[in-house]
Amino acid sequence: MRFRFPIFEFPPQAEALRVEVRAFVAEELAAGLWQPGGDFASSYDAAFSRRVGARGWLGMTWPRRYGGHERSMLERLVVTEELLAASAPVTAHWIGDRQSGPLLLRYGTEAQRAEFLPRLARGEIFFSIGMSEPDSGSDLASVRTRATKVDGGWSITGRKVWTTFAHLNHFAIVLARTGEVGDSRHGGLSQFIVDLKAPDVNVRPIVNMAGEPEFNEVVFDASFVADERLVGEPGNGWQQVTSELAFERSGPERYLSSIRLVESALACARERPTPRVREALGRMAAKLVALRTMSIAVAAQLQNGEMPNLEGALIKDLGNAFEREQIAVFRAMGAELPRRSDDYLSALAGATVNSPAWTLRGGTREVLRGLVARGLGLR
Ligand SMILES: Cc1cc2nc3c(=O)[nH]c(=O)nc-3n(C[C@H](O)[C@H](O)[C@H](O)COP(=O)(O)OP(=O)(O)OC[C@H]3O[C@@H](n4cnc5c(N)ncnc54)[C@H](O)[C@@H]3O)c2cc1C
Repeated sequence: MRFRFPIFEFPPQAEALRVEVRAFVAEELAAGLWQPGGDFASSYDAAFSRRVGARGWLGMTWPRRYGGHERSMLERLVVTEELLAASAPVTAHWIGDRQSGPLLLRYGTEAQRAEFLPRLARGEIFFSIGMSEPDSGSDLASVRTRATKVDGGWSITGRKVWTTFAHLNHFAIVLARTGEVGDSRHGGLSQFIVDLKAPDVNVRPIVNMAGEPEFNEVVFDASFVADERLVGEPGNGWQQVTSELAFERSGPERYLSSIRLVESALACARERPTPRVREALGRMAAKLVALRTMSIAVAAQLQNGEMPNLEGALIKDLGNAFEREQIAVFRAMGAELPRRSDDYLSALAGATVNSPAWTLRGGTREVLRGLVARGLGLR
């Protein structure tokens, strides 16, 4: 079996940081700067992201020369889990901090790192993921968006879909076919940094089930991207995209999407918990502790430069199942939960309409389970 989740304790400086982040959240709430919102992908507040950047909590692990703070993955985990636990509006900076920045650090040119990383770390620019297409989601290697070499750059034609917050963000890292499929379907793919505000890039918002324009269709019609915006070597896109996935799948956002629901349920139940309510909340706490231990282990492996893709897939699958289960349990509980507050009812309604997306974004359950089966040597 190839899964590893070593038990890991947070170092003292990480626990000290936790106290700082909690104080920051308390100050922000006391000043009425935001209300606890939905999950990590639905509360967009650029000003909040700039304040987090000003604290030094974006690009935390990146080198100082690129505007980073040279802190550990575990310290970064403390910040992300505290902000998620507070249901803070982290959406604007989330993708750039989690995966676009690390991708540029690993594969980008010196000029790209110097241009983008300091601004990402200050919370001034925000990135989207331009992977999925209308007929290419799970089977990402089948992307049809094509980039053709032209004088001074590349001409991109094709269509991306589900590009989260492309209508508000500044850039997307777009996966496109630059070569022939050849022997391996994974060959001939490349990634480009695309300016989402460019006049030849057409961004069309799509309204989700909760009534929010969360994601977009992004259409390229001979859109020009300069040579300097190619990320890494042409043809290396597949390896680069898959290296993003360990960052994308293992974080606390994969099991804390509905934490506001659990917190508000606890507040309602505290005075008069029935045995069923106690059992349900106890089970949730136990699962949460196990998931958190696994997620910390993956952060420690990322810190060591490892790429725990399988462990990330396992955490995302278990985490998403846990999130969905919470909603089912609370819905079934109905009025047995005493004193159902407005906060609880709004958290339950929000989680119910947003939850179908949780098991799709970042890889579907079936696909993740396929990866886990491979880790067990069954495929
Ligand atoms: C809220 C949300 C935000 C998103 N944001 C982004 C974003 O910012 N950028 C981006 O690029 N994409 C984004 N996505 C797209 C997401 O990555 C895809 O929806 C996902 O990869 C699934 O692809 P698909 O929708 O094309 O479904 P399909 O791949 O067509 O899958 C349909 C069904 O078939 C099953 N299936 C497919 N292949 C297999 C297989 N090999 N074995 C077993 N079952 C299989 C799937 O599990 C699923 O149930 C987002 C999606 C959502 C819901």
